[in-house]
Amino acid sequence: MRYIEKFNLPFTFEPPTSWWQWTLFALAGLLGAFIFRITISFDLNSFLRDRRQQGITQLQNACTHLLIENLGEGALRVTNCFFSPSGTTAFYCSRCQVFSFSPERDYSGREEYYTKHIDEYLKAEKKFSHTA
Ligand SMILES: [Zn+2]
Repeated sequence: MRYIEKFNLPFTFEPPTSWWQWTLFALAGLLGAFIFRITISFDLNSFLRDRRQQGITQLQNACTHLLIENLGEGALRVTNCFFSPSGTTAFYCSRCQVFSFSPERDYSGREEYYTKHIDEYLKAEKKFSHTA
């Protein structure tokens, strides 16, 4: 008290006198403790890991899991990017590493769709290369 009076600050601290002031003080204290807890529990590494996982998921969503090459004269070569590492029954996309036990079932009709709508394929490829 003396300290405040000495420097003549524009405010003075008075201990709460009525019950509602005590309640207000208690609430303010709780809020402060809560904010402090949030701040210290914020883990930068897990934040970055989540961001990375988000990026991978975005990439896998943008991937067509197909490679369509123009051989000229209207001929297209369609390559499925799914491969099965030896000794496993699972399939992985060689471009985006998405995992599937049965790509024929999970990603059916993609070859037909993208060979018929080649502009859609080019659009998807553009998006994929932007995401990568
Ligand atoms: Zn893929």
